[in-house]
Amino acid sequence: MASPAAVFARLSDPNPPTDTPLVLGTAIVLGGSVAGLLAARILADHAESVVIVERDDPGASTEPRPGVPQGNQIHGLLPSGLVQLERWFPGFTEQTLAAGGRMAAASVRRTYISGVRKAAGSQTNFLTGSRPFLEAQMRRRTLALPNVKSIVGRAAGLDFDGGAVTGVRVEADGAETVERADFVVDAMGRSSRLSDWLEQAGWQRPAMQRMHVDVNYATTMFHRNHDDFDLNAVIAYGATGGSTDATGANFIQIEGDRWQVLVAGFKDSKPGRTIEDLRRFCAGYPAEFGEVAAKEPVGEPQTYRHADSRRRDFHALRRLPARLIATGDAVASFNPVYGQGMSSAILHASALSEYLRSRPDLSRPARQFFALQKVLVDAAWETSTRADLELPHVDGPYPRGYWLMKRIGGQVTAAAVHDTDISRRFDEVTYMLKHPGTLAKPGVLLRAFMVNRRARKRA
Ligand SMILES: Cc1cc2nc3c(=O)[nH]c(=O)nc-3n(C[C@H](O)[C@H](O)[C@H](O)COP(=O)(O)OP(=O)(O)OC[C@H]3O[C@@H](n4cnc5c(N)ncnc54)[C@H](O)[C@@H]3O)c2cc1C
Repeated sequence: MASPAAVFARLSDPNPPTDTPLVLGTAIVLGGSVAGLLAARILADHAESVVIVERDDPGASTEPRPGVPQGNQIHGLLPSGLVQLERWFPGFTEQTLAAGGRMAAASVRRTYISGVRKAAGSQTNFLTGSRPFLEAQMRRRTLALPNVKSIVGRAAGLDFDGGAVTGVRVEADGAETVERADFVVDAMGRSSRLSDWLEQAGWQRPAMQRMHVDVNYATTMFHRNHDDFDLNAVIAYGATGGSTDATGANFIQIEGDRWQVLVAGFKDSKPGRTIEDLRRFCAGYPAEFGEVAAKEPVGEPQTYRHADSRRRDFHALRRLPARLIATGDAVASFNPVYGQGMSSAILHASALSEYLRSRPDLSRPARQFFALQKVLVDAAWETSTRADLELPHVDGPYPRGYWLMKRIGGQVTAAAVHDTDISRRFDEVTYMLKHPGTLAKPGVLLRAFMVNRRARKRA
């Protein structure tokens, strides 16, 4: 049995597969956002036809839409997501840049931890743009595939026969029809009703784990002039000082010569609800935040409250119908501060590809898929919830081995501020390029310990 780190490395392979057996007739994907589009891309290799059922009709729009209400908030695409997008859509980066996306090379990125600039780390590039813009690039590439189409409608339930899913009930124009399916993917996001449907049809609903993080987001756009500084993807965890109760800030360049600036707070802290308030809070962060926030705003600040991180444990279900999987936020959605959501959803597609390439017995539940996906979900969950458990208002649930993880994480995070080698390893994990277990290696811990000891002596 391969270790989680080895499975994670395999699923992160940047090369497209060469062996893609046709194993399905019609596959239906419920939800046409990041997870659904990437699942459709994989299914196109293995099914005669793929149908995406999406309740919005986004067309080629690059504007936020009702089905993805968080779309007006800043969204960082982690390098792991970009590597996988290149894998499934060769030339994705170049095309996105041509459409107006922006590149954030390591030389123009900065990370601050409690006001102190972190040592240079991973040299991997980021690609930045607004969330609907990035999604539109994925949609364009997916719908260009000859055997993929999208229909506008609301998925309202599933049909089962024996131990398998056989169809999807779709509501459109006031009528309900049944679309027959050989395989169904739930990509309906964190509010997916799949668990209810399973329970209503006599199956088990997956257990849901929740961590109440209570994050308040406020994102504002500003005009970017051509002679503005070229910084991109600047992130600050914790403010520098002053009377701020904001807990994180971030800015990126996006398409249309704009900046997007986020100020976040936890629980009762709701910073950045007006331009004046945003500017006041930016003064508590490194100077470049104030410089961007002083530009001419484009529209009003947009706010969003994210109550909890949650995961549904499909992998643990004893009774599960065959020919059904779930992916993206429908399985796990995290505190957005860590920017893991889109890249997780994109990596889940890699698990689907490996599952279908194994020519699975489709009369049995897709346990092999859920086991692969669990490795990805565990990794993202461990990284984000370990950090969240340090927040005063978050009181669990504490995972097994938490106190050891906390000590290891504390040493590595502190050392990453001073040491480029630890900083690179830290970035590779937070960028989801490597499994968090890579930070617990004895050599890494010893180095982190020595770095911190030297830093304490200097202080
Ligand atoms: C405030 C905030 C900030 C975030 N910032 C980041 C970030 O910086 N980086 C990052 O990577 N991630 C971020 N995320 C997470 C990211 O938005 C999600 O992880 C990502 O959108 C997951 O995609 P998805 O396709 O699984 O679900 P969603 O994007 O939620 O899409 C679900 C889709 O299903 C459709 N749908 C739902 N029900 C039905 C139905 N019954 N029938 C048909 N269609 C249906 C919806 O219309 C929608 O298109 C953030 C999230 C929030 C809340």
